[in-house]
Amino acid sequence: MKKIDRIYNPPRPHWVGDGFHVHTFFPSQEISIKRMSPFLLLDYNAKMRVAPAEKQRGVGVHPHKGFETVTFAFHGKVAHHDSAGHAGVIGEGDVQWMTAGSGVLHKEYYEKEFSKKGGDFQMVQLWVNLPSKDKSANPRYQPLVGDQMKKYILPGEMGTVKVFAGEYKGVKGSANTFSHVQLFVFHLKEGAKEDFEIPETENTSLLLLEGAAEVNGESANMNQLVLFKNEGIKISLQAEEETTVLLMSGTPIDEPIAAYGPFVMNTYTQIDQAFHEFSSGKYGYLED
Ligand code: MN
Repeated sequence: MKKIDRIYNPPRPHWVGDGFHVHTFFPSQEISIKRMSPFLLLDYNAKMRVAPAEKQRGVGVHPHKGFETVTFAFHGKVAHHDSAGHAGVIGEGDVQWMTAGSGVLHKEYYEKEFSKKGGDFQMVQLWVNLPSKDKSANPRYQPLVGDQMKKYILPGEMGTVKVFAGEYKGVKGSANTFSHVQLFVFHLKEGAKEDFEIPETENTSLLLLEGAAEVNGESANMNQLVLFKNEGIKISLQAEEETTVLLMSGTPIDEPIAAYGPFVMNTYTQIDQAFHEFSSGKYGYLED
């Protein structure tokens, strides 16, 4: 059995722009920026009700450099726009994998129709570090449509595991990644039981998006994060009700981290450079 380090309640939320009300599980005082490497940050917008509005709430133009943002829309829809001319919508159940790499400006906000109608909104944004040799990769997008992801189906159709990245019981995920990263979304029916293995060399945690489950014998509830120790390999999930789980795992990138605001590099000289590039317009132009 993989040992559980701790089960965390969601930390006090804060607003990102006027659209995203997020619990930053890490980095935090309790979970360092290196603890879940290659994942640098986990922002979780727990399920909330959004009132109908004409104005599309969200976060205005800002830069990123040196890593990737991976955005999951579990409820509601998120639109985005960037300085390289890319634009798109992350629909319910979909993921957008953005490689900021050498630097990009973008904005993220509620999709127009969702904004008008309002409704449930629940999302996750993960920041995935890039190895130093790939920090200057060209910016790119990978739209990962939930319904098109390869799936593992539990025996007796007790649930599914959508493989966005990595490999689950022989089912390979669609995302192209720069280092070893695994992202699985489990949809489990009440009473479903699922066992799988993750090597001790990976940093692993899981977030309960819906429902309640026994995780290696300990009970975890909606909106809690289960952080594993790097001891033992087997993970056993038992759904106490209908449950949705996001599993995050990856091989740590053992390099120095210099993080400041929207930039994550290896040294602070590189951070100064990034600010200089940003202020001199190297990341292009985007209207607010
Ligand atoms: Mn952003």
